[in-house]
Amino acid sequence: MADCLFCQISEKKIPAKIVLENNLVLAFRDINPQAPTHLLIIPRVHISSILELTKDNASIAAEMILLAKSIAQSEGADASGFRLVFNCGPHAGQSVDHLHLHLLAKRVLKWPPG
Ligand code: 5GP
Ligand code: ZN
Repeated sequence: MADCLFCQISEKKIPAKIVLENNLVLAFRDINPQAPTHLLIIPRVHISSILELTKDNASIAAEMILLAKSIAQSEGADASGFRLVFNCGPHAGQSVDHLHLHLLAKRVLKWPPG
């Protein structure tokens, strides 16, 4: 999608601090980090939100989670712990309509979230 911010990051048309990528998914540092480690993991294909996942494309979610796990390990957060979050829709605060998984780590995270 030409006017999608995260599609443009995936296509390297907009710069981002990319940490890890493959042909299916990409991870980059959040521009406004909410924890010392805060990354976004996105599919290269445009999917608006969790609501657009189906049996046909849901395998991308596993790719995203596996990339998040690799980064949590490489950032040294596997022992201390980390959180993975999909925000979906207005009440959850989704602000970019391209599916993204937040990886938050390196501080104690409160539960329940605000
Ligand atoms: P949401 O609120 O939709 O769950 O998460 C969107 C995230 O994207 C936010 O945490 C926000 O800081 C991040 N973000 C928004 N614009 C940019 C950008 O241009 N570059 C990067 N790296 N992160 C962004
Ligand atoms: Zn997109």
